[in-house]
Amino acid sequence: MNDAHSPAPAQTPGVVIVTGGSRGIGHAISTLLAREGHAVAINYATNAARAEALARAITERGGRAMAIRADLSRPGEIRALFTRAHELGPLWGLVNNAGVTGTKVRVEEQTAETLDALFDINVRATMLAAGEAVRRMSTRHGGRGGVIVNLSSVAARLGGLPGLVPYAATKAAVEAFTRGLANEVAREGIRVNAVAPGLTATDMVPPETAKLAETVVPMGRVGHVDEIAQAVAFLLSPASSYMTGSVMTVSGGR
Ligand code: NAP
Repeated sequence: MNDAHSPAPAQTPGVVIVTGGSRGIGHAISTLLAREGHAVAINYATNAARAEALARAITERGGRAMAIRADLSRPGEIRALFTRAHELGPLWGLVNNAGVTGTKVRVEEQTAETLDALFDINVRATMLAAGEAVRRMSTRHGGRGGVIVNLSSVAARLGGLPGLVPYAATKAAVEAFTRGLANEVAREGIRVNAVAPGLTATDMVPPETAKLAETVVPMGRVGHVDEIAQAVAFLLSPASSYMTGSVMTVSGGR
């Protein structure tokens, strides 16, 4: 079998950075990945106590985890996050989970400042973090390969709820980036995929929006964070070894 037909490098549990890993969907992802044997670098921006508590809970169950503060709107802090995470061992995976909805107003009321704040996290930070991961994981740079999973949203295809049009556009950017980066590093041992959740019960979804699920979601309910984490864990596992450039929708049919 020549190289072009060989499976990707062995993808056993390793060190995975989860951005925004202490809350909401990120909390569920960090918890599940740790249970599956990964060492988890839990990134957070605001609440050290919550992130430390999760890292401690994982460690007490026999897993490996470290809470690392980094405001992803600051490129220097993204680089520092990857340097700190190396204390757990060589990087094997990145979950670009951190995200914000931005300022919820119509497009004509958005400003350069509200749009910059949104794109800095959802798009720029996703790309900069992926770049840091590729630099460490790519066989082109002497790495052993790895996996990147980006969090998109069904909004990328639906255009977003009222006031969230720019948010939907950032997630469309995440999906285009996922496909393009997957092509760029496909022969360097790195797979890149995205998960597109529908309405999921977290702080991001206020009760009146969650109620919408009864009518707009075919299954008639919001998703649970664990249901999103399962898809992320699958894309990080060898079970998805021939998947790259894919977007996996987890939306109750929406
Ligand atoms: P959430 O509960 O609002 O949590 C957002 C996460 O992003 C938090 O962990 C937060 O960290 C982190 N974050 C925000 N700004 C950051 C910054 N500057 N630096 C570092 N981290 C930052 O959101 P969620 O619902 O779990 O969403 C997670 C991902 O899923 C997002 O990408 C979101 O767009 C996507 N998604 C969510 C839904 C949904 O219905 N919930 C649907 C589709 C897609 P701190 O807590 O430390 O601030």
